[in-house]
Amino acid sequence: MVGVRRLAALLCTLAVTFTSSTAYSSPGVTYYGGYHTVAGHEQHNAAVAAAHPDLVKLYDIGDSWLKAKGQGGHDIQALCITKLAPGDCALNSTGKKPKFVLHAQIHAREIATGEIAYQWIDLLVASYGVDPELTELLDTRELWVVPIANPDGVDVVASNPAQPLLQRKNVDDSAGDCTAGYPGVDLNRNSSFHWDGDQGGPCDEMYPGAKAASEPETVAIQGLLSAIFAGRTGVFITLHSYGNDILAPWGYTRTAAPDQAALVALGNKMSAFTGYPVFTGDGGIGYLTPGSTSDWLYGTRGVPSYTFEIGPRTGWCAGFVPPYSCIASTFWPLLKPALVYAAKSAATPYGPLP
Ligand SMILES: [Zn+2]
Repeated sequence: MVGVRRLAALLCTLAVTFTSSTAYSSPGVTYYGGYHTVAGHEQHNAAVAAAHPDLVKLYDIGDSWLKAKGQGGHDIQALCITKLAPGDCALNSTGKKPKFVLHAQIHAREIATGEIAYQWIDLLVASYGVDPELTELLDTRELWVVPIANPDGVDVVASNPAQPLLQRKNVDDSAGDCTAGYPGVDLNRNSSFHWDGDQGGPCDEMYPGAKAASEPETVAIQGLLSAIFAGRTGVFITLHSYGNDILAPWGYTRTAAPDQAALVALGNKMSAFTGYPVFTGDGGIGYLTPGSTSDWLYGTRGVPSYTFEIGPRTGWCAGFVPPYSCIASTFWPLLKPALVYAAKSAATPYGPLP
């Protein structure tokens, strides 16, 4: 019987592998009232890079899971925005300008997050030589943006434009079929810092993958961040939804991080703009997050790293898929000044703060 079950499991795996060769396709440039598809983001990234060669470098930092399998998928794209001078925006840590990184939509269904990154890119390229504060920022900082960290997942979400599908993970189904849910690996549990294999099975929302950094998306992000950050300067923010919280390290344990007071101090400065309270450990969300991107960067490089949980738990703009109008009416006005402040603080994030 064991042999029969093993054979059945093998056949099931083969069937899943075969059916997954049909990649999800994007329905167009926008969906659900204005949210940008992966194709929309890719068009936008290419357009701003072409229009502003003095301000933007566009990188392909690695592949999505489907692309790595040769089944469609996407490159993971990163933009570096600054008034480009020799040595700026290189994929190394020797650049002179402190770095701020905004990372979004690693959880595909958290659709407001990619849109905030889109707005941030537009703000930066439109403001040089126009807005004195942002011109100075572009003269003195490297502003990196990864607008879509999980493009295969976002393709699933956007494949039903009128009511986005609630895909959180990437689409790696190699660990098995999940007929009752969505297969995939939770990329925010897959990093190689305090990775915890007990977070869930292949069909669970927090499945951490077969091993640390098993996913090409994780390798791409860790590769970028480990290349550009040498040590304890710079700031990193990863955007998630929802809860209206700012989460500071650690996320994997309730034990205080070595820099907890300073991390919370910078978090509180950003909180002054958003109104989101700052939590560490399992505060705010009620569970620990081993293997997260932000713990990995703080834990491996000492860079202050934050998770912003955008959006309320109740009301018109609540949840994973708020109406598109919430971006302009509610989220962007709060986040824009917080992101500007984060970028300013990148030179001395452990103080003195600006
Ligand atoms: Zn999330």
